[in-house]
Amino acid sequence: MTEKLTVALSKGRILEQTLPLLSPLGIEPLEDPEESRNLVLPTTDPSVRLIIVRATDVPTYVAYGGADLGVAGKDVLMEQGGHGLYEPVDLGIARCRLMVAGRPDAALDGQRLRVATKFVNITRRHFAEKGRQVDLIKLYGSMELAPLVGLSDLIVDLVDTGHTLRANGLEPLEHIADISSRLVVNKASMKLRHRELKPLISRIAEIANDRAHR
Ligand code: AMP
Repeated sequence: MTEKLTVALSKGRILEQTLPLLSPLGIEPLEDPEESRNLVLPTTDPSVRLIIVRATDVPTYVAYGGADLGVAGKDVLMEQGGHGLYEPVDLGIARCRLMVAGRPDAALDGQRLRVATKFVNITRRHFAEKGRQVDLIKLYGSMELAPLVGLSDLIVDLVDTGHTLRANGLEPLEHIADISSRLVVNKASMKLRHRELKPLISRIAEIANDRAHR
């Protein structure tokens, strides 16, 4: 038998919203990925296995061939550059917006602003395009806290309902990008396993499209 096709997913939103796209294809994990401690999960399709990795590691696993396929947020792909992989399908899942946010009373004119974010590359590009000089402060989480304690004037973060911002006295100020998750594919696999991958990718695209227009 040829090697199993390996699909890299991350726990949480992406896993939750990707499994319904795979189950119509007869691909369902044999163990509950949210509960299991195993990082390699066989599925109901003996030719497909899932691996569970951090969301920010999905592009790396796929680009270097640790997985043939993966699902990654557009935010992660934009931040990391999306090098060395194909991005053939917008799955339309885990939708949100990447926003600049701050306190409603923030004085933003004139001064050189401090912006806290985990998306330093996207943020640098965004402000450079606007010709605004900012000091970037890299954080790994809870960005909403930064303006509250005077660590930064602004943050750049993902916003879905806006509840998290509001609960922390912040408001969205500028839209940077609409975000959703993308199917990503290893370039060598796309060539070498084209016969298996082409129909699989097409079916996933159809299922994602049907669900998006339901
Ligand atoms: P909300 O309160 O609904 O606006 O959600 C905002 C919080 O959830 C922030 O901490 C975001 O980082 C996170 N979040 C929202 N949508 C996503 C997404 N699609 N992927 C990852 N994190 C998200």
